[in-house]
Amino acid sequence: MPACEHPAVLIITQQVVDTSTSVARDRYQLRCDLEAGHSGPHHDSRHHESWEGTEGQYTTLLRHEGERPPFGEPDLDPHSD
Ligand SMILES: [Zn+2]
Repeated sequence: MPACEHPAVLIITQQVVDTSTSVARDRYQLRCDLEAGHSGPHHDSRHHESWEGTEGQYTTLLRHEGERPPFGEPDLDPHSD
């Protein structure tokens, strides 16, 4: 059974001290690993994230640092853009 493979990006934000500003600290590429044609939200079991998204839509998820345990090195450089 092929996987859904719907893509999303997870960005971990970090509060800048003494400001209300958050900056992107890490960025992870997510890919739904449920079976193709599944119902309900997409899910990446490697990163333990779920998201809503339709075909052709690229979802960005934001999580504040400390809300969740880290899971290794980021896949992408958060400063690349
Ligand atoms: Zn999916």
